[in-house]
Amino acid sequence: EAAVTDIMPPHMLQNIDMESKGRPMKSHAREQAYLPRLPIEKCEDKLVQMTRDTSILIVTGDTGSGKTTKLPQYLYKAGFAKHGIIGITQPRRVATISVAQRVAEEINCSLGSTVGYQVRFDDCTSQKTDIMYMTDGCLLRHSLTDPNLIKFSTIILDEAHERSLNTDILFGVIRKQFLSKHSPKRKYPLKVIVMSATLDIERLSEFFNTCPVVTIPGKVFPIKEKFLNLIGPRDKDNTAYIAETVKVTLDTHLNEPAGDILVFLTGQWEIEKACDMLFQKAESIDYRNDVYDSSVEGLLIFPFYGSMTTDQQKRIFHPPPEGIRKCVVATNIAATSVTIEGIRYVIDSGFVKQLNHNPRAGLDVLEIVPISKSEAVQRAGRAGRTAPGKCYRIYSKEFWDKCMPDHMIPEIKRTSLTSVILTLKCLEVNDVIRFPYLDPPEEKFILEALRKLYQCSAIDRSGNVTRLGRFLIEFPLSPNLACAVIKATSLGCEDLLLPVAAMLSVEHVFIQSGASRENKDFEESHKRLSSLAGGGNDFVTLLYIFEQCKSIDNPASWCHKNSIHWRAVKTAFSVEKQLRDITTKLKEMKDFPIEKSDVPRNDLMVHCLCAGFFSNVARRSVGRTFCTMDGNGSMVHIHPSSALFGQETNFEWILFHSVLVTSKIFVRTVCPIRYTWVKDLLPKLHDIDAYELSSVAREEVTAEELAKWNAREKAQQSNDSLEASL
Ligand code: ADP
Ligand code: MG
Repeated sequence: EAAVTDIMPPHMLQNIDMESKGRPMKSHAREQAYLPRLPIEKCEDKLVQMTRDTSILIVTGDTGSGKTTKLPQYLYKAGFAKHGIIGITQPRRVATISVAQRVAEEINCSLGSTVGYQVRFDDCTSQKTDIMYMTDGCLLRHSLTDPNLIKFSTIILDEAHERSLNTDILFGVIRKQFLSKHSPKRKYPLKVIVMSATLDIERLSEFFNTCPVVTIPGKVFPIKEKFLNLIGPRDKDNTAYIAETVKVTLDTHLNEPAGDILVFLTGQWEIEKACDMLFQKAESIDYRNDVYDSSVEGLLIFPFYGSMTTDQQKRIFHPPPEGIRKCVVATNIAATSVTIEGIRYVIDSGFVKQLNHNPRAGLDVLEIVPISKSEAVQRAGRAGRTAPGKCYRIYSKEFWDKCMPDHMIPEIKRTSLTSVILTLKCLEVNDVIRFPYLDPPEEKFILEALRKLYQCSAIDRSGNVTRLGRFLIEFPLSPNLACAVIKATSLGCEDLLLPVAAMLSVEHVFIQSGASRENKDFEESHKRLSSLAGGGNDFVTLLYIFEQCKSIDNPASWCHKNSIHWRAVKTAFSVEKQLRDITTKLKEMKDFPIEKSDVPRNDLMVHCLCAGFFSNVARRSVGRTFCTMDGNGSMVHIHPSSALFGQETNFEWILFHSVLVTSKIFVRTVCPIRYTWVKDLLPKLHDIDAYELSSVAREEVTAEELAKWNAREKAQQSNDSLEASL
């Protein structure tokens, strides 16, 4: 029995116990328990040996082969944790937590002891932690205070194929380290493993000085793929895909034999809507008459997206009861980051939600876009893990040919780069243009980021990080928001800004026009709240909601009544606490500036917002349109969700938090400001040539060059004096 416990994860053991109902375990169940379950198990020795022998290694293998959960355990068993933590990065927060939880279960320890995780706003590690799952952003943060990563013996950069921004930066940071000499500060050289589902491995290996690659042989069952032609190129920009996806899911349930369904949709709202529709339709099925295969009689529906609680997520992995079909409606997270067993059918909507930089608006916006062909293949592959499967694509072959790119564009080429560039500058990477990027971002975006950082005074005229820049990088916030918070902390009024920053950091505080709720309800309650809050300032409304929820007895029901996501507010509570911890730490620093101000308290909040968001101000133009001051001079409209909507003509100047681009450019979360508050700041938007900041010209000089240069100068001087004496 003890041996079984070693190999089997606890929840599997439980299943076996239930099956055998206290009787001795059947012999075949025992055999099963001893058989290797995952493809990676055959490669354990090889992987450990290769890690010992090389400093950098690439490991690839199909999704679900056991890379993420098993490899860290192998290294741990082999003693790699003796010289430091084994750190594994993940691009996604949810996957980080879910995988850490799973591994803690597998080795039977409580989460936060031997196995822990660190994500933005949530640190679940301790002195005892040897295996640490973390987001790639967290590791970047670590490397700020510990450039040689002394805490770590091994770093595993997982999900390399996702090409997330932070992982890409880590590639460059690690490569730089390898090209430079071994740091005397490290006793043992750092081991680096890059893990990836199949991707351009050759290019990655080349990037790391043609390092060795281990491929885990996998077994995939055949998958039947079918284009259903429900969506064509002309449907690229509408939401018809949701209803079509629901329809196909239901057809699959009614017509296909047993096996679970995995549905790929785009985001929280779309998934909740689809689940609502599925619930309603599944309820009305008369199973005696409709189902052709009587072995499946019900549909168990689970949504699966990033902002769900971990308890909600856990249920997704449980096998469904006998005779019931499980249906998971997920974002792209289920494509590679996590594997759900038992999936036989994949329904692919063909879309994904992606953060894209919108140069017109100068901001990052979430957009729904067609997936790439390689992502579509990956999605289909989820159906064939344990048995032959089927993949239904709701779109047509024409959509595939015309709308879907071959590969996804790496995030670094799609997003604004401010925090990346600031991180690089803090890491003392002087030349941010010639940093070894696997895929260099366009130079104009780097320059835009530099300009933004200069505007926020995070870097100075010569491109060096300022004191403010070093404070700024402490905050997991956009530079604008971080600046506003720092200003408030300097002025001693952080109580006004921290809740607002926290509320702006969590998504969807207001329940949008959900499937079950009328749009009108939502708008009315939104209006009522903003007038209760004092009216005419969306930031103040957020503060009001936050404080209200903090002080009343039953915030959950208050939120429900007011169309507010209580879960989001709860998250904001924890974000606020962590931001507060950061500001407390900053205030204790000797060089943190404490300012006095004669601004009346009523104006303080907006005053601080101006310090951070002066690049997001606009002056009223004609009628209800406003013109931005950032040099683009875009014409923007106040979004209908704002308390200022409909009263535009009362305001001359406004400040906004974000931009939404549809047929028009809308600004969201808005407040009125006075010109005098931004007058002195606005020139900063225009007075610099960003090339000056990239410090291309300021390459480090070697000692030899310096000596030559000094000699030349001396010669020049003596020439000068010679000339003078003549
Ligand atoms: P890879 O990283 O190669 O894609 P993983 O290590 O993530 O593979 O997954 C290996 C197996 O572990 C999966 O097939 C799945 O069955 C199981 N697994 C992973 N995470 C969880 C979880 N949170 N709950 C239950 N099972 C999980
Ligand atoms: Mg993995």
